[in-house]
Amino acid sequence: MDGTADIGLIGLGVMGANLSLNIAEKGHRIAVFNRTAARTEAFLENAGALRSNIVPCYTIADLAAAIRPPRPVIVMVQAGKAVDEQIALLRGVLSDNDIIIDAGNANFRDTMRRFDELKSTGLTFIGMGVSGGEEGARNGPSIMVGGREESWKRVEAVLTAIAARYKGEPCAAWLGENGAGHFVKTIHNGIEYADMQMIAEIYGLMRDGLGMPAREIGEVFAGWNKGRLNSYLIEITAAVLAAEDPETGQPVVDIILDRAGQKGTGRWSVIEAQTMGVPATAIEAAVAARVISGMRGERLAAERVYGKATARLDGDPATSLRDMELALLAGKIAAYAQGFAVMDAASNEFGWGLPLPTVARIWRAGCIIRSQFLDAIAEAFAAAGSADNLLMAPSFVAMMKEAHPSLRRIVARASEAGLPVPALSSALAYFDAYRQGRGTTNLVQAQRDFFGAHGFERLDADGAFHGPWSSAAQHGDPKQV
Ligand code: NAP
Repeated sequence: MDGTADIGLIGLGVMGANLSLNIAEKGHRIAVFNRTAARTEAFLENAGALRSNIVPCYTIADLAAAIRPPRPVIVMVQAGKAVDEQIALLRGVLSDNDIIIDAGNANFRDTMRRFDELKSTGLTFIGMGVSGGEEGARNGPSIMVGGREESWKRVEAVLTAIAARYKGEPCAAWLGENGAGHFVKTIHNGIEYADMQMIAEIYGLMRDGLGMPAREIGEVFAGWNKGRLNSYLIEITAAVLAAEDPETGQPVVDIILDRAGQKGTGRWSVIEAQTMGVPATAIEAAVAARVISGMRGERLAAERVYGKATARLDGDPATSLRDMELALLAGKIAAYAQGFAVMDAASNEFGWGLPLPTVARIWRAGCIIRSQFLDAIAEAFAAAGSADNLLMAPSFVAMMKEAHPSLRRIVARASEAGLPVPALSSALAYFDAYRQGRGTTNLVQAQRDFFGAHGFERLDADGAFHGPWSSAAQHGDPKQV
């Protein structure tokens, strides 16, 4: 006998449990399974009134039997091997037209492989990025779907019902075939790395350059959250900086070790950007900053050798703070421009046809980088004849013209004081290189020709040329090759 549940879910960890409650709350009957039965029991105890929409299962076969065909099953377990294991188990109990939805943070290349592996089985596969953490999963995440469009149509109702809403519009969308959803989630996280790192750098300038205590810094961020920087990350930064450690009475942030973890999505963003030849320098700097944060022993030793940066940012603090707000805005524009450029390149490379305005729209609520800024990005990409790079969209040109002098001042002053601002300075360097009509790689190309006879193009003639710097025997005549 076929079951009564509309959908199934494997993995009742932080994300799976909250997503299940969200689905049950929206009136969908959900069958759930977790490898460790005790977790299923604990989940049921916390389900309250939603328990009536939840079917607990203690084997994968029971899970399959509990769902009405064609069965959609969400897999929300640790990315990697565990996903392959669950897919293998599901293949034994599911039948034609059932849909396996991997909702974890998969590497999109794994998603492409799984999509291909399942092609011949009659099962369909969806790779689905989910952002918003625990709170988002429970109350409305941002959902990025990759797979066949007809598979999306079959789960669209439940996914749009549980997604966050921005002015009534659901933050869930089908973005393209196979790995599109997980790729977009990866770049979302890459941008998130850059966003968080730039906020941390500005916090560092206030703490070490202006000597401000955490509470005051929090108040500045709270103020900025009412302006153009309004965003979830700025909001939680203000809240974090205001929090006190109940045991010591100190600001919590002051007793947290300065060593940041990472699970891979930032690094994947950078690897894919490099593979496609798209500069994503602010994201790279943010990933590297987390790596350097992990080298605490070396950092402490180097500080003993080279001395601590003790210089303060001079000048009027109020002016500095105004500059910092604009610097953060400029850095953010550059980082988002890079992230969207990476997605655009991947879309061409993998033939996804990623709808960039839709990506920006479904990030406006529910996800960690949610902000009103994304509404402006959605509008910029949706505008007729929209620019390839966000830096060239008219509304962003105006913002960047206003903000980049502040970014320049802040990076210059930080560097004079010896305070590290790697993501902000990378963003500035990217902007300066991007808008420099006559660059300096004419010299690089000359060097390459000098030692490797790679040839170069000329400004004043078509063709490939060698320079007059070597013997004719070694590099041939200095004429067109
Ligand atoms: P979590 O709380 O650590 O839970 C992990 C879940 O995976 C548990 O249900 C665990 O089952 C199950 N699991 C692990 N290895 C397994 C295996 N070999 N076989 C079967 N089940 C296995 O993790 P989470 O935070 O919910 O994250 C789940 C996925 O969502 C990950 O891909 C994560 O990257 C992604 N994600 C997380 C967040 C976040 O903010 N936490 C946000 C977006 C996406 P047991 O109870 O038996 O151990």
